[in-house]
Amino acid sequence: MSTDPFPTDRPAVVTCGLPYANGDLHIGHLRGYIGADTFNRALGTLGQQSAYVCGSDMHGTPVAVNAEKEGIDPEEFALRWHEQYKETFPQFGIDFDNYGHTHDRTNTELTREIVTSLEKNGHIYEKTIQVAYDPDADQYLPDRYVEGICPYCGEHARGDECDEGCQRHLEPGEIKEPVSSITGNGATYCEREHKFFRVSEFADYLTDFLDGLEGTSNARNQPRQWIEDGLQDWCITRDMEWGIDYPSETDGEDQLVLYVWVDAPIEYIASTKQYSERVGTDTYNWETVWKNDGDIVHIIGRDIIQHHAIFWPAMLEGTGYNAPRAIAATGFITIDGKGLSTSRNRAIWANEYLEEGFHPDLLRYYLTTTGGLQQDVDFTWTAFQEKINGELVGTVGNFWYRSLLFAYRNYEGTPDADVSEEVRERIEDAIAAFREAVNEYDIRAVGLTATRLAQFGNEYIQRNEPWKLTDEKPAAAAQVIRDCVQIAKAVGVLLEPVAPGKAQLLWEQLGEDGDITETQLEAALAAPPESFAEPGELFEKLEDDRVNALEAKLEAKIEAATESSDGSEKSDESEDTTNTDTHLEPLLEERISFDEFQALDIRVGEITAAEGIDGADDLVRLEVDIGFETRQVVAGIKQLHDLERLPGTKCILLVNMEPAALFGVESNGMILAAGEEADLLTTHGEAGVGTKIR
Ligand SMILES: [Zn+2]
Repeated sequence: MSTDPFPTDRPAVVTCGLPYANGDLHIGHLRGYIGADTFNRALGTLGQQSAYVCGSDMHGTPVAVNAEKEGIDPEEFALRWHEQYKETFPQFGIDFDNYGHTHDRTNTELTREIVTSLEKNGHIYEKTIQVAYDPDADQYLPDRYVEGICPYCGEHARGDECDEGCQRHLEPGEIKEPVSSITGNGATYCEREHKFFRVSEFADYLTDFLDGLEGTSNARNQPRQWIEDGLQDWCITRDMEWGIDYPSETDGEDQLVLYVWVDAPIEYIASTKQYSERVGTDTYNWETVWKNDGDIVHIIGRDIIQHHAIFWPAMLEGTGYNAPRAIAATGFITIDGKGLSTSRNRAIWANEYLEEGFHPDLLRYYLTTTGGLQQDVDFTWTAFQEKINGELVGTVGNFWYRSLLFAYRNYEGTPDADVSEEVRERIEDAIAAFREAVNEYDIRAVGLTATRLAQFGNEYIQRNEPWKLTDEKPAAAAQVIRDCVQIAKAVGVLLEPVAPGKAQLLWEQLGEDGDITETQLEAALAAPPESFAEPGELFEKLEDDRVNALEAKLEAKIEAATESSDGSEKSDESEDTTNTDTHLEPLLEERISFDEFQALDIRVGEITAAEGIDGADDLVRLEVDIGFETRQVVAGIKQLHDLERLPGTKCILLVNMEPAALFGVESNGMILAAGEEADLLTTHGEAGVGTKIR
């Protein structure tokens, strides 16, 4: 793995987490694919050879369960979604060099080859385990066929992941109180032989791997913790029919298929191979990338970090493939500050956005420049409008149009002059910022580089007032406009990764030939064509009444979904990038430093007494033992807790809160609680009274 900055002289591949072929695409999916597409385009702008590959994830229990519901074959079901995705992605400018699927021949063969090789290298063993079984349906219950309680955090969980709690991957047999999702009956456990991948023996390798890994910090930090906690071997087979058969088993009756998370990431390689075979290995060689010396960049949702930063690199290492150079994990999307929920229709669907007639670049710009890759992004139509009107219409579009129109009317194109030193330097700065942003996997900064340059352009034209110069100082006027046309061209080059469609339009208006996608950074400083036609406006203002109508529409559809779902929650939650809770407050954008956090003295305490305060409906006087002393604290939890049961409970107390008096009672600390119901925070281990939270 290399740490030379991009562009390198090696081929790169950029991948994005595979969509489950299981339901309509929405803004939560698009965010990842657009982010990865922007990154890949930006690499191209730097001059890096790169392929952007992906494919549909056809296997796994979500697909099997939903196909069964519709009474059709899982392959037919998954292929239908696959075809839809293939059509949808290009409509958002998401330009995959290859888009395959995990059930195709390339991936099936490669998966069997890799598993066979893992087995040969001694990384796989057989073990008898307990698997959930539904006696009524006479069926084993892998993964999402079973639900129950997470053994780590106690939250309700799916058979293969703690989706509502600690986000851990769950192994077969781990889930407590298993319930069959086929019949709703309690499941039993029975013994079965399964194949295990010895992930535990890769702990040292993975520690080193993570130390050198680029991308977002969450993709390194969480896995480090998991390694520290001790890696479990990984069950890689399932008792079901839909999937890729385990290579060395031939017995029809007891045939095991590979767990979906074995063949899913292998599609990254398979898809690269298909691309390579199509363009020819002289142009792009998949084996160079995956086996010799290439730069592999994975962009994923943050709920699948474990699969990509632990299992996947261990599989690659165990079979002699290259390790990824970077893993960038995206945050969640919220809608109006609340968790995106497909069952409640609190979502912006891909086709819905397109049907509104909006240009894909507007959404691309919004998603990339609002939160980058790692941050959560909140979508509201109002914020969308502010972004579009403020930055794309007001800054970028305004600068483009006024510069080119002025140039066209006075010079019928680019005035004859050299670019001034000031403007050349400003463009060079923008190029440097762009290069740095790509190397930091900061697509937000990538997108904003162009906007900031356009902002400078507006200031430049305002400051120099060329319209006052044309008569008396024609050379000075020509100089200013020459500079502005150059800035406009540079803005186009730098905006292309985020807004390729609009950048291409600008390119054509400037009289440039060819595809702006093929241009590289040098083009930002190359001379524009001498003549061009009258320009048109590139962006359109989004009016208030349109936004009001969109908001009303969103509200109405959420309401309709809530009514029709009849209170039954989460029944069809199937998305891997969504956050299903409603009523969540938006995340704060502003970050605090570690020092600021350290300034909060938060301790484990134990409530020793609790009594209501006379005359106050909600308030309780608590005595909390914090080891050194006992604090008196007033808390607004009277209606929400049974006071008699509080003494003896461990709690978490902010002890250096300024004292305050409430109803004449001094409160000397603040007890921490979650949400409207004042769910009191506590510890789950042995942390003693007085222990500092850090
Ligand atoms: Zn959990």
